[in-house]
Amino acid sequence: QIPSDSLESLNLLPTAPDWSSGFYQAWHVSEKAAQDRLYDFVQHAIHAYKTERDFPNRPFTSRLSPYLSFGQISPRQCWHVVRAAQASGAIDPAHYNQSEHFITELGWREFAYHLLYHFPETPLQPLSAKFAEFPWREAPDDLHAWQKGQTGYPLVDAGMRQLWQTGWMHNRLRMVVGSFLVKHLLLPWQTGAQWFWDTLVDADLASNTLGWQWVGGCGADAAPYFRIFNPILQSKRFDADGGFIRQFVPELKELPSLSIHTPWEVSPLELRQHGVILGHSYPEPIVDHEVGRQRALEALSKTKILL
Ligand code: FAD
Repeated sequence: QIPSDSLESLNLLPTAPDWSSGFYQAWHVSEKAAQDRLYDFVQHAIHAYKTERDFPNRPFTSRLSPYLSFGQISPRQCWHVVRAAQASGAIDPAHYNQSEHFITELGWREFAYHLLYHFPETPLQPLSAKFAEFPWREAPDDLHAWQKGQTGYPLVDAGMRQLWQTGWMHNRLRMVVGSFLVKHLLLPWQTGAQWFWDTLVDADLASNTLGWQWVGGCGADAAPYFRIFNPILQSKRFDADGGFIRQFVPELKELPSLSIHTPWEVSPLELRQHGVILGHSYPEPIVDHEVGRQRALEALSKTKILL
């Protein structure tokens, strides 16, 4: 175990440009930090995990994934600590359900490993053979806009910038940005998986593959493959007051909560009053939601995936 303050003395980290500087504000790299985070989560957040875990601006997920990924804590340790807290009453029996949901999420991780073991080709190949001939687009500019959080959809951009700045992204946003890439932009899920692999501090071949095949609809579980997340509705539902967007897309921070999800619907005059010039200080949407949605549905139907 290397204490985080010794990392620099090893001279392993890049100095120019230091793209990882934001990571050290977000993460403490040590086994002790992993233990502290688990205990803190069980004490202060697990009681509302199930209800609150989908809201990116609320601190109710464990953020243990990087530690689990690097092995600084094990799923067994998490399981035992939660079980002990349930048995001792440290977790109020009224909140048992909430804590059980956390255990089931650890189960998804185990399922991902099971799948990767039995289907080792899935990091690159869709599990469902129907998707082998899917007519993906090639659009490097769109891919670049997505990677850099410049799609013009505030929640998508906030998620992508959270990833770039902290090396982590909330699970709800992984689903939203993933769906946007694969469905709205019709770009291959493998390019998204590759970007996550390069940028996530919790990058994990099994969980990343499961997540991206889920988003693409070509994986093992029964989530409808034709589901297309609506990035506007997701934004209004899971970041209603726009607090998360304001944190990661500061150029929109003066916009009122009602307008922040869809700046393109606000008049240029009102935008200007809040310091926004669409196409200059913040991009226009790179694809219209309805156009992107229809294009994805047509592609699915052409390949006889959607019957
Ligand atoms: P919590 O909600 O506190 O969950 C506790 C732990 O359970 C997590 O740390 C993780 O180990 C496990 N877990 C939770 N949800 C999932 C899930 N859906 N699949 C597998 N394990 C899960 N997770 C990774 O660890 N590495 C990845 O590379 C990764 N890539 C993903 C890509 C996509 C497109 C999607 C949709 C999900 C991906 N996930 C990945 C799963 C999930 O988003 C993260 O595990 C979770 O956001 C981590 O935050 P947390 O520790 O606060 O999670």
